[in-house]
Order: sequence, then structure tokens, then C-alpha cells
Amino acid sequence: MLSYRHAFHAGNHADVLKHLTLCLLLSRLNEKEKPYFYLDTHAACGIYALNGRFAAMHQEYLGGIARVLDCKDLYDLVPEYFSVLAKANGQQQVLNTSALRCYPGSPYFAATLTRPFDKLAFVELHSREFEDLSHNFRRDERISLHCRDGFEALGALLPPPIKRGLVFMDPSYELKSDYTAALKAVKAGLTRFNTGIFALWYPVLGRLRDHSKNLTQDLKRLRAPLLQVELRATAQREEHGMCGSGLLILNYPYQLYEKLEQCLNLLYPRLCDENGSARLRIINPQD
Ligand code: SAM
Repeated sequence: MLSYRHAFHAGNHADVLKHLTLCLLLSRLNEKEKPYFYLDTHAACGIYALNGRFAAMHQEYLGGIARVLDCKDLYDLVPEYFSVLAKANGQQQVLNTSALRCYPGSPYFAATLTRPFDKLAFVELHSREFEDLSHNFRRDERISLHCRDGFEALGALLPPPIKRGLVFMDPSYELKSDYTAALKAVKAGLTRFNTGIFALWYPVLGRLRDHSKNLTQDLKRLRAPLLQVELRATAQREEHGMCGSGLLILNYPYQLYEKLEQCLNLLYPRLCDENGSARLRIINPQD
């Protein structure tokens, strides 16, 4: 049985990196008039109340979104991120932590930033999360909602009828098998939809439990264009805790590297302590 609830972590440093990257990918796709397909394989509920029972427990957003809210340069670089944040909080502009009530999840970013003619599919396996997800997005006719395994959904929902798109994969890695399932799913997804962008989020855990290096090597072997962005908020310890996170992006779009480089320059001093680090690299170049 799944017990992971993302609300405990809403708006933390990993969410900031993840959702800024998502905004950059969507805005890149929006540059062309042609419609595209967005698949969110691990959607969770879509929006989190920061004063809710779960998020308020550890207030992880204080080490994440609360530290970048007033960053004007980041606002200029990725205005979409801040406009979605403001919308989720029922405001024109969210500029300080006291005005921050909610933090949007990947489905909320995608539903807000896509256009009327794009198509979206949100997948979530946890029944309670799916109930909330359905409640939040049931009125949007562009979106299909699926309570099922997100890794398997790649086989079922790809290839999309539209040949452009983004598959956004944000597993909880609650099960160790999620790493192999993610690799298998990306492999199958690329076979079915080789023009699609695939973005896979991963945590950087304590050395004894960390799988990020192996996952990166496995994805490298798929030979598709591959870019990696990673931010470690603090030093990696032997055992416990998530010190950082990253995304592996297959078929990454042109100029994503430059945008992410600017983002990391702004995030690093705000989200990392003296033992933290940022990394951006092209692992397999574009043809
Ligand atoms: N993408 C969300 C966001 O940005 O707000 C957060 C997703 S959270 C990290 C991971 C979610 O995946 C959880 O809600 C969990 O219930 C769900 N999940 C876990 N295993 C799954 C699976 N095999 N298929 C689909 N969803 C799964």
C-alpha cells in the first residue's frame, strides 16, 4: 500500500527546481502554435495548502519557495512559474511568504500553462490523492484522469495522437523497484514516442541508499539526447535524508541548458548551504 503524501514536502527545494524546469519545458513547447500532449505519470493531487495538516508539519517550503519568492531576476527569467504561483494563491503577484497559502503541483502548472487546444493526461495511483486530483481538474475537458500505475500508463497512453509533447515523471521512489520501473517505462516510452521530451525527477539520498548515479548511467545508455540538472541543498550524508534532487531530460529542447544555467546561478545562493552544490551537464548531445 502506498503511504507517500507529497503534501509533506510541498514547495521544498526539490519542488522549486522541478517546477521551474517544468515551466521552462512548457514555455518552450508553447513557442509553436501546434498543439502538444502532456502526460503527468505521478500527478498527486495538484495543489497543496501550506497551512494544511501535512505541509505545516515540517514546513519544508520555508527552505524552498519562501527563499526565492522575492528574487526579481528569477521572476524575469521564468515569469510563468510566478504567475502560476500567484494564480494558485488567488492573487496577481505573490511577493512575500505571508501571502503564500498554497503551493501548486505539476498538474496545476501544466493545466495553467497549456493552451485550449493542447491535450493532457494526469495519472495517479494513490486513491485519496486521485480523488483530490479528480475534484481539482474534472471540469477541464482537455484533461483525461487515470487512477492507475504511472509507469504502465506510458505503454497505454503513448504514442499520443499528437506527435509533440512532454512526459513528466515524478515518482515518489517509495519502492526501490521504482528505479527499474522508471527506466523500463522511459525505454518503452521512447520506443513509442521518440519525438517526445521525457523528464524524470530523482532524489539524491544518503550515500548508502542513493541510486541517482546508477539511474543516470542507465538512462545514458538509451543513447537519446540527455541533459541532467541537479541541486544539492546540503552535503550528502552516509545514511538518512534527501540532500538534493535532479531531473534527467531526454530529447531536451534547444536552449534549455542556457536557461537552466541561469536558474541554477540564482537558486544556488538561496537554496544551498556552504556544503551544497549545483550541477548541469549534457550527457548525450543532440544530433
Ligand atoms: N508531481 C507531483 C507534483 O509536482 O506536485 C508530485 C508527485 S509525488 C512526488 C509522487 C506521486 O506518485 C504520489 O502522489 C504517489 O501517490 C504517486 N505514485 C506512487 N507510485 C505510483 C505509481 N506507480 N503510479 C502512479 N502514481 C504513483
